[in-house]
Amino acid sequence: MTRSKAILAFFVGRPLVAIALAAVVVGVLVLVQTHRQKTPVTNRTEHVALSDEQQMELGARNYADTLRQNRASIISSGPQYALVQRVAKRIEAVASRDKPAFVWKVTLLRKNVANAYCLPGGKIVVYSGILPVTQNAAGLATVLGHEVAHATAEHVAERLERQHLTGIAAAIIAGGVAVTPQQYIHVMALLGAASALPFSRAQESEADHIGLVYMARAGYDPHQAVLFWKRMQRASRGKEPPEFLSDHPSDAHRVERVQHWLPEAERAYKPLASSTTTTS
Ligand SMILES: [Zn+2]
Repeated sequence: MTRSKAILAFFVGRPLVAIALAAVVVGVLVLVQTHRQKTPVTNRTEHVALSDEQQMELGARNYADTLRQNRASIISSGPQYALVQRVAKRIEAVASRDKPAFVWKVTLLRKNVANAYCLPGGKIVVYSGILPVTQNAAGLATVLGHEVAHATAEHVAERLERQHLTGIAAAIIAGGVAVTPQQYIHVMALLGAASALPFSRAQESEADHIGLVYMARAGYDPHQAVLFWKRMQRASRGKEPPEFLSDHPSDAHRVERVQHWLPEAERAYKPLASSTTTTS
């Protein structure tokens, strides 16, 4: 028996050893590639290992699962659908300048929960329950700006890095074999999807800041963000906080911080050409 055949025989008889080794190899490969990167707007240096392509793959998997599980709730026509598509397109165009590789897509789900989220790589999910609170296009742009900012600032990749889960995530992306069910669930729970683990307080605040500038760049009056957050504060009183209210300092402070960033957002604000700023 040749040496390579002997090695092969060893692994064939011990598949778990082969799987564990594969995970280690993938993990090491990824860790070597850890790189520094600047967040858009806030220019913070962060350390991430997953490439744009890996983040897109991770998000696309979760997105496909979500669409499959919620097929009956997908809204694909009507005024709410048109509004979400229109506003998302404007926000995505702005975010694409920071992340040209990402492939953006938004899905509106019929669900009576005031929530929305954007997966790594640009896949967005909006629940119809947020629309009574957003009230108008600028309110919706506030939400989408915030959610999309989590993706362009690579907050999920950063969290995976901090929790030493990058190797596991890379293994999932590479085929999903070299992980335990618990590890898989843990990584998926970090994606920023609804009812998953919340982002850190600093990341939430950063998403508010970037999102505010994004909505302004997209042509929506940033002052509308302050009104939206006040409405959200009233609407969520006594309820479980949605993704973008989770793990936050008090909502009052959030409004204060947003007001603090308003001058910067005003400089970025390019009003839409038509007179339909608040309705289109
Ligand atoms: Zn958030």
